[in-house]
Amino acid sequence: MKRLAQLTWPRVARAVADGATTVILPLGATEQHGPHLPLGTDTVRAEALAERLAERWPALVAPALPIGCSDEHGGFAGLLSLEAETLAAVIVDCARRMVAWGVRCLVVLSAHGGNGRALALAEARLRQELPELAVWIPDAGTLCGVAVREVAAADGVSIEAVGLHAGEGETSELLHLAPEQVRMDRAISGYTGDMAEGLTRLVAAGTQALNADGVVGDPRLADAARGERYLTAQTACYEAGLTERLTAGHPTAGSAGA
Ligand SMILES: [Zn+2]
Repeated sequence: MKRLAQLTWPRVARAVADGATTVILPLGATEQHGPHLPLGTDTVRAEALAERLAERWPALVAPALPIGCSDEHGGFAGLLSLEAETLAAVIVDCARRMVAWGVRCLVVLSAHGGNGRALALAEARLRQELPELAVWIPDAGTLCGVAVREVAAADGVSIEAVGLHAGEGETSELLHLAPEQVRMDRAISGYTGDMAEGLTRLVAAGTQALNADGVVGDPRLADAARGERYLTAQTACYEAGLTERLTAGHPTAGSAGA
């Protein structure tokens, strides 16, 4: 049992005394994910990755923060979003309390790219205010991008189909994690042009300017078994990254990107 919210305080104290001095904080979002995926898609993915990482590392998993910075999805019903400064402040506030009960390393695992600016702000503040806390805030794309592309390529799925948002990639993962929440009968292909150009346009003008349905990629190709392989590949990347950070003696050298 690694979920902080499901433990009693004596069990947390014992776990920390036994060496579980790392906390993984999953960050999600509440934003449109096309006509076929739930708004909490990124939260489901963040929680799943955090729990998998905690199976391979002596860490506790904090409750996922289900609202991130998602204003690029403005114009779609259901959006909840925080200012970057607000999200950064929440992360810093939580970290302060963790340090008080013995946490020595914080891993912020964000499954939503739009949280990048908030993560950079949080990281800068944490380094300044809590130098005793090792902080690792990896950029998912940088850390796991190659591994994800390899899984897709092995199945003949193009990177344009995998997509950046509500495409084959996220849809496959949700088909594995929460199939009852996926409406494959509503899945339609979205923007499938150049992904680097698509990302630039998405960040600059919002998802709606790129695709009226909010889909970047082609979710019709999604497959639950491939979703499991995506998650396994990403977990391995996080585990390797965490090991490298903590054994290299530079645990605060993580980067918070898009
Ligand atoms: Zn997403």
